[in-house]
Amino acid sequence: MQKILPKKEFPEFIDSLIKKYEVVAPVKSPNSKFQKISSFDEIYFDSITQVPAKIQFLPEDETLLEFKNKKAVETKGEIKKTILFGLRKCDLNAIQIVDKVMYDQQYLAKRKNTVLIGLFCENPDEYCFCNSMQLQDYHDLFFYLKGENYYIDVGSKIGGALVKNLSSVKKEIKIPNPANFKKLENLEIGENYKDKIWEGDADKCLSCSACTVYCPTCNCFDIKDDLDLDLKNGERKRCQASCQLKSFSRVAGGKSYRDSRLSRFKHFVYHKISYYKKIYNRPMCVGCGRCLRVCPTKIDWVETINKISKS
Ligand code: SF4
Ligand code: SF4
Repeated sequence: MQKILPKKEFPEFIDSLIKKYEVVAPVKSPNSKFQKISSFDEIYFDSITQVPAKIQFLPEDETLLEFKNKKAVETKGEIKKTILFGLRKCDLNAIQIVDKVMYDQQYLAKRKNTVLIGLFCENPDEYCFCNSMQLQDYHDLFFYLKGENYYIDVGSKIGGALVKNLSSVKKEIKIPNPANFKKLENLEIGENYKDKIWEGDADKCLSCSACTVYCPTCNCFDIKDDLDLDLKNGERKRCQASCQLKSFSRVAGGKSYRDSRLSRFKHFVYHKISYYKKIYNRPMCVGCGRCLRVCPTKIDWVETINKISKS
């Protein structure tokens, strides 16, 4: 089902949501990111955010349990009904991908209480290649501006309830894919793991982990116990981690299973393109281009795969 909203009534619609719910949307400063807003005017519309929306569900660190007098007590923070507005199709697919692998109570509670509202991507840049990544529809509502009206695709009952007072579209329109300039030519790279071409990228890699921090589908974590000196009280935290750090695959005795930069770098690419797909039948990468945008040495693994396909 599709609904229609005149463009001039859009600010009023968003402000009416803000009155009833906690609304989180893209804001500009200092890096573009999703943040709680108090008025329509705060929303940043120009491009996808630099910081991905995963931070709403998987913050840098989060308390999972508290230890009180040597007893473990479940942490129950208040989880408010939240509307996450302004997600591009890549952002929505990234949430769908992470939903398949995160099962803990905190994550599930936040997801259950969050309504996902998408927004068509008007300004993809030279790093975006979402059209190569088999993206799917995954939203409660999705807004597409055409002429003087927003066409709103309703993807769930909960989404439908938010727009029940708007008029229905008589003839539904097809929402196009964003106009990508970049393309990933080949998703079948299983045979190319030993190709020498990867060494060029790995030589430039600083193992800084920026690609994984900004990737909307990277979800690796460490569990750390933060205890008081008396060892009776404290917290167990989930902390963001990265496969690009040597310490990530270090085990007792000091051995690291991905000791070389080459093995860590290839793990990132192969996890995104090949390994996740073997289990879930789709790539783990959504083509948002964030890893390429933030890489300090401008490594472009998409072009590396394209070169392999042409060789
Ligand atoms: S952002 Fe670039 S340099 Fe940093 S770990 Fe990733 S690929 Fe390596
Ligand atoms: S691997 Fe890069 S392009 Fe793909 S989803 Fe992650 S950040 Fe986006």
